[in-house]
Amino acid sequence: MKFGVLEGNGIGPEITKATQHVLEATGLPIEWVHIPIAEEAIEKYGHPLPQETVKAIREVKVAVKGPLLVDKMQGRLTCVHDDGTEHTYPSLNNAIRRELQLFVNPRPVRGIPNISGKYEKLDVVIMREITEDVYIGWEHKIGRHAAQAIKLTTREAATRVAKYSFEYARQNKRKKVTCFHKANVLNFTDGLFLECFREVAQNYPDIESDDFMIDAACYTVVKNPEKFDVIVAANQYGDIFSDLSAGLAGSLGLGAGANIGEYASTFEACHGAAPDIAGKGCANPVALILSGALMLRHVGQTEKGANIEKCVREVLSEGKFRTPDLGGTASTMQLADEIAKKVSKC
Ligand code: NAD
Repeated sequence: MKFGVLEGNGIGPEITKATQHVLEATGLPIEWVHIPIAEEAIEKYGHPLPQETVKAIREVKVAVKGPLLVDKMQGRLTCVHDDGTEHTYPSLNNAIRRELQLFVNPRPVRGIPNISGKYEKLDVVIMREITEDVYIGWEHKIGRHAAQAIKLTTREAATRVAKYSFEYARQNKRKKVTCFHKANVLNFTDGLFLECFREVAQNYPDIESDDFMIDAACYTVVKNPEKFDVIVAANQYGDIFSDLSAGLAGSLGLGAGANIGEYASTFEACHGAAPDIAGKGCANPVALILSGALMLRHVGQTEKGANIEKCVREVLSEGKFRTPDLGGTASTMQLADEIAKKVSKC
């Protein structure tokens, strides 16, 4: 069983190592394929995302990916394809998703007993569209004192993410799918996103559906965390709402994620490279471990994935091993090792 691994930077290498340790504890015959990215890829191929890396991910089809530091002002990146065509992206992460044609970023966030308090019953799966919206990167300056960005919504992408979400709800026995938008102001873009969602919803009469303005949704999840189930959102709303949800559950270090495409999929945490704690060995590895569990589910190892999820919840609920973001003193590897020990006994 071959899995790619892109370590990333910041806390990436630490939490990737922890995740590999837990996945290996399942007893599956895993062969890791190390794929260079960022500085390592620059050193080897002269580019942070060379075509060699894109092809290696496509070849292995599924990969665990650590977070990547993205310089705020110089994030734009041009990828040159073998046929000479080129494409410029707003960031390295955005480039990976779009070079691989990944289209949906499911981000499950679930409250944990003894950790999440009022948000223990929070249990949402945010289906974030990742090919367009304001993250398409069509931005430009207008002189020195103004700048403009374009928000793109297409019927094709909005319909695809809505269908994926309803199918997911059906397969995973989820009851409701909610669309987040701001169609009262963004009449055409979010209006089209909502229109496509409603069209798709008609084909799933067995699943309840509704919609919320994104601002009201943020308020509602804080006041009434059980209100939402599966959520469909455009790129930016989904990005922001998933960090909010992870924070309510207890830490950004709890938010797992996947980037799903037709030809390849990557599995990465909601959070970033956390430069403030990088190298200290105290990052919470749970978000990436849970992303690894999603990867096992994705390749059909549903029981092994579910076991990891169960063991993570048990270890964190017991409270003896928690990283500092959750009020504990455990190191990244101590927490991972405790989870791995439980997983190996499942
Ligand atoms: P961040 O998510 O890295 O960190 C926000 C806060 O949460 C920090 O205080 C950090 O210490 C904490 N945190 C995050 N993950 C944690 C974990 N696993 N355990 C404990 N604490 C954790 O967001 P940021 O600081 O805005 O971004 C840092 C860098 O990461 C930026 O360069 C940004 O562009 C990049 N980023 C990358 C990704 C990705 O690779 N998918 C996603 C978001 C941000």
